[in-house]
Amino acid sequence: MSTIFSQIVEGEIPARVVYEDETTIAFLDANPLAPGHTLVVPKDEYERLNNVPDDVATDLYATIHRLTPAIEEAVDADATTVAFNNGEAAGQEVPHVHCHIVPRFEGDDAGPIHSAFGGPEAIPDDELDEIAEAIESRA
Ligand code: 5GP
Repeated sequence: MSTIFSQIVEGEIPARVVYEDETTIAFLDANPLAPGHTLVVPKDEYERLNNVPDDVATDLYATIHRLTPAIEEAVDADATTVAFNNGEAAGQEVPHVHCHIVPRFEGDDAGPIHSAFGGPEAIPDDELDEIAEAIESRA
């Protein structure tokens, strides 16, 4: 069963496509959080960022980089929130990696990404050192 986004790629279901190249496609979100809310998607199906090959990741970022200013200009936004819900526990609903570009406006009161969390977590220095080392050794 292909994902809803693959069906958009194949033209099987309609979408307001705003950009397309060989490996990526971008279209307006069907339930926009703000005017101009756009999803950027690799045409091939990868469930999470973790599964995206390097060359496709490069293409995906190039499309995000190209569209972010285009979207801001098109809807006269003051800024954008650019984010991936990467995995079910992070709220990802469609199992086909996608980047949300959400236009932001002065006074829209949506807050920063930080507002999705309760606030900073107090983590002891030695634990932070261990975490940094664990990440560095895998990067
Ligand atoms: P997620 O929660 O997986 O990060 O976001 C999925 C997004 O896909 C949601 O913002 C939702 O509105 C959008 N979406 C779901 N189905 C469709 C669809 O059929 N067409 C479009 N254009 N967007 C969709």
